[in-house]
Amino acid sequence: MVDRVPAGRVASYGDIAVLAGTGPRQVGRIMAGYGHLTCWWRVVRADGTSAVADRAAAYWDEEGIPYRDGRVSMRTCRWSNYPGRMTELTVRAWGTPGFAAPLEPVTVTRRELREDDVRIRIEFAGICHSDIHTMRGDWGERAYPLVPGHEIVGIVEAVGPAVTTFREGERVGVGCFVNSCGECDACLAGEISYCDEGPTPTYGGFDGEELTQGGYSQAIVVRESFVVSVPEGLDPAATAPLLCAGITTYSPLRRWGAGPGKRVGVIGMGGLGHVGVKIAAAMGAEVTVFSHSTAKRDDALSFGATRHVSTADGLPEDLRRHFDIILNTVSVDLDTAAYLGLLRFDGALVQLGLPGEPLQAPARMFTQQRRSLSGSLVGGIRETQEMLDFCATHDITAEIELIGAEHINEAYDRTIASDVRYRFVIDATTF
Ligand SMILES: [Zn+2]
Ligand SMILES: [Zn+2]
Repeated sequence: MVDRVPAGRVASYGDIAVLAGTGPRQVGRIMAGYGHLTCWWRVVRADGTSAVADRAAAYWDEEGIPYRDGRVSMRTCRWSNYPGRMTELTVRAWGTPGFAAPLEPVTVTRRELREDDVRIRIEFAGICHSDIHTMRGDWGERAYPLVPGHEIVGIVEAVGPAVTTFREGERVGVGCFVNSCGECDACLAGEISYCDEGPTPTYGGFDGEELTQGGYSQAIVVRESFVVSVPEGLDPAATAPLLCAGITTYSPLRRWGAGPGKRVGVIGMGGLGHVGVKIAAAMGAEVTVFSHSTAKRDDALSFGATRHVSTADGLPEDLRRHFDIILNTVSVDLDTAAYLGLLRFDGALVQLGLPGEPLQAPARMFTQQRRSLSGSLVGGIRETQEMLDFCATHDITAEIELIGAEHINEAYDRTIASDVRYRFVIDATTF
């Protein structure tokens, strides 16, 4: 049993006892007799101390097991692959019991860890507009009870035996998707958002037989390849919205080449738009915000925009043929042709929001200046990691209002009323 503990990890006598179906004392006795035949230095007391710490230290050094004063750091290197840590787990959550019903406390069951699963103790979950559309029934009926949330930050608390990227104690994030076919052209290119079979959403989708349940909960179990690392230095609560809003704006900005010398327009400065402004500015682009009122002008400028246009007065004449990229982050019906007219040669209007009506523009708006109209959906996992690293380098997080779970329904109302600067994040200790 002891030899199943991998190099660089330690187990307690109790951990081994559970595995062997015996008690910690028996394990201690057996170790005393036959321990020299095993990797004995990988077994310590539950508090990380060892009776033979002086002799073990050389092995700990060799395997990179952190310790101080003869005490191993159990938090960072305790082997989690033992029974009891891997089993199915029922956790508290907030979700809706039925179609368009308000959210209330519910429980969800997280699956027993598979080979490549990571179980995350959630710290923070952002409230995305998609959560509200889904929970209030705007996008049709789903399976219930349903727990939303796809802007998740937390700490790894257990990993399956085949997991290599993450260890217990590390801070990680999960975004909009938790699985995909893995075989289509999009998946092979790392662009899981565009999976042929449709990626599995973090909540409200089916992963095999299992209805996925999102991040408004105490814990979640996700395949390793859909988990990203949260760089140190990023505030974990304010990082949560980056897992959706961050990647959804970062991906098209990269795709259409935002950078020095480029002019970027951002339509709408809500949860999505305000992060887009920060990222585009950090990429070195000149950023203009289009917003229906002047209320957010000062914020826009402080986030890095150089100009704020209040669309209530119409679109300024001097911005015709001005932009290389315009991100439309809003879901209301706008004059697509008018915004296309603001694009210069080879410019692209990129649709991120989903308005109700079809988009319309005369064909000449495209032939002139070789403009294009496109759309973008979230982004890949590798790209999400790249985005988080970029945000850490440039000190970018979302502007948030942290709430307890009991305020979720109220936060939904306020988000719809645009009464939030700029994203609600739920403290997961309140679930
Ligand atoms: Zn979202
Ligand atoms: Zn695929």
